[in-house]
Amino acid sequence: MPRERQPARSTTTVILVILTGLIFFADLQFEFGFATWLPYFLLAIPVSGLYSRRVFLFSVGGWTVLITAKLAIHLPTDDLTTDLFNRTLGIVGLWITAYLLYQHRQLGRLRSEDEQRVRTMLDGALDAVITIDAHSIITTWNPQAEKTFGFPREEALGALLSDLIIPPAFREAHLKGLQRFLTKGDGPILNRRIEVTAVHKDGREFPIELTVMPLRMEGSISFCAFARDITERKALESTLRQAQESAEGASQAKSDFLANISHEIRTPLNAICGTTDLLLTTTLTAPQRRYAEMCAKASHTLLCLVTDLLDFSRIEAGQTQLEQAPFDVRQVIDRTVQLLTHRAEEKGLTLTFHLDPDVPQYIEGDAFRLHQVLLNLIVNALKFTKQGHVTVRATLAHPSKESSRIRFSVIDSGIGIPADQLERIFDRFTQVDSASSRHHGGVGLGLAICKRLVGLMGGRIWAESLAQSGSTFIVDLPLTAAAIPERPHGQENASRLLQTALPLVPSTPAEQRLHVLLAEDSLESQELMQFYFRDTPYQVEIVSDGERAVAAFQANRFDIVLIDLQMPGMDGFTATRSIRAWESAHQRSPTPILALTANAFREAEEQSLAVGCTGFLTKPITRPQLLDALNKYTLSAPAIDSQPQKVGASLDVAARIEQEIQQRRPQFLEHRRKDLGAMRQAAAQQDYEAIRTMGHRIKGVAGSYGFPDIGAVGQRLEQSARARDLAAIHREIEQLAAILVQLDQAA
Ligand code: ADP
Repeated sequence: MPRERQPARSTTTVILVILTGLIFFADLQFEFGFATWLPYFLLAIPVSGLYSRRVFLFSVGGWTVLITAKLAIHLPTDDLTTDLFNRTLGIVGLWITAYLLYQHRQLGRLRSEDEQRVRTMLDGALDAVITIDAHSIITTWNPQAEKTFGFPREEALGALLSDLIIPPAFREAHLKGLQRFLTKGDGPILNRRIEVTAVHKDGREFPIELTVMPLRMEGSISFCAFARDITERKALESTLRQAQESAEGASQAKSDFLANISHEIRTPLNAICGTTDLLLTTTLTAPQRRYAEMCAKASHTLLCLVTDLLDFSRIEAGQTQLEQAPFDVRQVIDRTVQLLTHRAEEKGLTLTFHLDPDVPQYIEGDAFRLHQVLLNLIVNALKFTKQGHVTVRATLAHPSKESSRIRFSVIDSGIGIPADQLERIFDRFTQVDSASSRHHGGVGLGLAICKRLVGLMGGRIWAESLAQSGSTFIVDLPLTAAAIPERPHGQENASRLLQTALPLVPSTPAEQRLHVLLAEDSLESQELMQFYFRDTPYQVEIVSDGERAVAAFQANRFDIVLIDLQMPGMDGFTATRSIRAWESAHQRSPTPILALTANAFREAEEQSLAVGCTGFLTKPITRPQLLDALNKYTLSAPAIDSQPQKVGASLDVAARIEQEIQQRRPQFLEHRRKDLGAMRQAAAQQDYEAIRTMGHRIKGVAGSYGFPDIGAVGQRLEQSARARDLAAIHREIEQLAAILVQLDQAA
């Protein structure tokens, strides 16, 4: 290395100077000037070998011996001037020659050192390094290139890159790219990392990662490419992708399963809850009443559990979408507290709420989810408090302008929670004392749901408690104050109703009612919905297809729209899109639109939300579900207790409606008998669309009439018609016929 030879060079230079002096001195002794320039030039030869000391010393030593010997033979000349000129010229020539030779030698050495360095790097490089000239001829091919592509160096050098490692399909593109660079000076693949396919010597194609850089040197252009075989990485990526897809598939299957199963479980469960509640309104003997009460309690607990499980899995699967809309905080707390007042009274507890005057009336957020969290906390507080009070407070947590948060506290005077359990209770399926929880009911999901919901809302929930001295659950939510929303039609009356008429307003004057537009093609569903709306402060206008729904919406003002997604002609999706478009063209604030469908699948929900629906109701819809949804989505709608079993006044109405539905069951069955004929005919003509529509309708409405089996047949018919499985269709038609016969016999 040059650096290490530095001392040798300076020593050699000193020796050179001394020897030159000696030769000059010796030459002065010769008569005609010692061979004039010759010795000096000859001396220059070893000088050029400055870095090979042995050669140098040998040559200089030889010349010194020769000159000294000549000195001993000849006498000095008389013509001193000529001698001096000759010798001076000789020495200058010597130095110039020595310098030029020295420079040449230096450059040669540097070049070979560079080459050595580059070769070492190329040999040791983990990437294949290839250079090609402007004609795509390979000029460098390192050992890794040999390994990667299988061609030995001798074979690769001088070959055309395109012939060697570029798959035939890409050869033309490669040559065009090269040409483009040569003419325009740019290229899409230059100077960046890309993934391409290459060919191995054995003919197999494989993926490589490639960076190509142009090299401009002394007027010529070449390209340097760094390539890496990424077969393994790609295989790993594909395995990971497959694993992810199968995990997503499993999660999708889980959510489909949950949607299905919850639908299948909830329908009969609703029927059990409804009929036991109904049973409790009749005259019963004491043991009968006790059994009916036990049955009602157990079925309601089961319904809550199924609902919690579904809710939790939806949140876990990231399927819960929060709304961001202005709502009245007082109204939400008021409604939640009102719902539970009865329960508090039963236990002799005081349930109150205080709203700090600083809290703005309207805030942005998801009113329903807030209601759900508060409901859960208050239910727990009532559950774990034997005597005393439960208080709900809403205050401002950080009243500074930038980071204001609204704080909801649910304070009770109950059994309290040990300090070491305060965090654990927010884990799923965790209860402080499973024995006492068994007594109170519940499975430890409520707080886990609350924690996740609050997290989704960007807030925090925690508990403070001292065992035996009550608990406080605190929910801190980011506060975004909202402007007072434009009052929808009929709001003043509705607000008044809220204050005075919980739980039901049996005789609201027509002009004070909230207007509902229902788009539903099935006559049975229409009829059912009419029952549900009976004795509520809602006035319903029913249309039977999407086109009529859009026309009705444009002609009148509605507080909410319920729209069936699958209707003949214009379906619910298209109608919703048209309504939204019309609203924005007329600068109208969006009216809540609830999609009605017999599909409990996420896709249907997502699709409906994507076209502009505000919410989603899965058929069969029960009256409480409908009223809950109306409560939730009509901002200032009169709060209606959707759970009639808790409140005596509404029980009468619910029972009456239930009775009416019961009375219509024979008619429902009669329709199914007619369907049978139509279906058989459609099956004979292979009219799958007709069968699908009939199946879909049956699926949507049968559960509400208390015939889950018929609903299930409807669902299978719909699926088989989609799959064009004629055999399965015939099977299901006969199944429906068998059920109808059985019901006839039972009657
Ligand atoms: P669940 O009530 O269904 O058991 P939660 O997740 O709502 O499930 O509550 C978990 C546990 O936290 C309860 O079982 C109870 O032990 C404890 N807990 C919740 N709220 C209170 C409260 N207000 N006072 C005392 N303990 C409570």
